[in-house]
Amino acid sequence: MGLMRRSLLVASQSQWLRERAPRFAFMRRTVTRFMPGEDAADALAAAARLAENRIATVLTHLGENIADRAEAESVAQHYLDLNERIRAANLPAEISVKLTQLGLDLDSEFCFANVARLVERTPAEKTLWIDMEQSPYVDLTLDLYRRARAQFRNVGVCVQAYLYRTVKDVENLVSIGASVRLVKGAYNEPAEIAFPKKTDVDESYFQLAQMLLGAGARRAGVRAAIATHDRALIQRLCAWAASQGIAKRELEFQMLYGIQRAEQVRLAREGHRMAVLISYGSYWFPWFMRRLAERPANMLFLARNFFSG
Ligand SMILES: Cc1cc2nc3c(=O)[nH]c(=O)nc-3n(C[C@H](O)[C@H](O)[C@H](O)COP(=O)(O)OP(=O)(O)OC[C@H]3O[C@@H](n4cnc5c(N)ncnc54)[C@H](O)[C@@H]3O)c2cc1C
Repeated sequence: MGLMRRSLLVASQSQWLRERAPRFAFMRRTVTRFMPGEDAADALAAAARLAENRIATVLTHLGENIADRAEAESVAQHYLDLNERIRAANLPAEISVKLTQLGLDLDSEFCFANVARLVERTPAEKTLWIDMEQSPYVDLTLDLYRRARAQFRNVGVCVQAYLYRTVKDVENLVSIGASVRLVKGAYNEPAEIAFPKKTDVDESYFQLAQMLLGAGARRAGVRAAIATHDRALIQRLCAWAASQGIAKRELEFQMLYGIQRAEQVRLAREGHRMAVLISYGSYWFPWFMRRLAERPANMLFLARNFFSG
């Protein structure tokens, strides 16, 4: 992993920076590249604009590692209200949550109850997605997911291709016909548990995607969301899917708001399912640092905003 990427990911964990950085106007200006605004209304308006291009959305209210029960409950309530607003606006939008924002650090039973409340109020044809956080949370997240999946069909979970363990996790998830969002992984993980080289992560991603899209997975009812902006990988997967007779509509891609916009429109126009994850909220610092770490060129963009300020 590059030094810049590692430094940004270390910085993303700094409370000192988290408290100070958002005060700078050039930071706030740069954030707008990845986020339509801090309010749910901004996210819903962006979702409506994307829907005009047949692009669905997944909405997430930024926040993680909540250490207070009342705060976790208010996040759950926020998502329940958001569900209503999505329904009222008739938007093709789903919701994605972080378990540490719903109280996982406090008590896993309490967190499960919050998740269950949200899935119960998610329309049957939509999925409530669960993000994957740093490696110490992977077992807890998958355990909670499996428990939720035993009770509800419409709940999905994210897995990270950079972890060596994910091949086993995907095998288990396929066997229960899960809904799975496959990503490369956004955190700073040690070489003992995660591929340090990008080429190995990319290869792992391709193999896991094949497992999630294969005939066995489709028979089991798996919904696979291929969440990447990597155009070479997308092309390779599209070619492989066509060779397997997988219809374009059965191949679902997900990307982040503001990244590879032209590719998002192109994939939707070609007939693939395309969804864009929109993040919003004021707690954006750690999330924003992870976005910077994903692409060193984003630092130039930040620098330009600093000097134009
Ligand atoms: C819908 C969605 C949900 C996600 N959920 C999670 C999650 O729950 N847990 C988790 O660990 N990670 C999550 N991620 C992040 C993911 O792990 C990666 O860090 C991120 O997607 C970058 O990897 P990539 O697959 O796009 O490939 P990369 O090889 O990193 O990028 C490929 C190309 O995409 C473009 N690109 C990628 N990132 C950026 C960026 N930030 N800014 C500008 N251009 C960029 C660049 O052109 C780059 O060359 C999610 C990603 C998506 C799309």
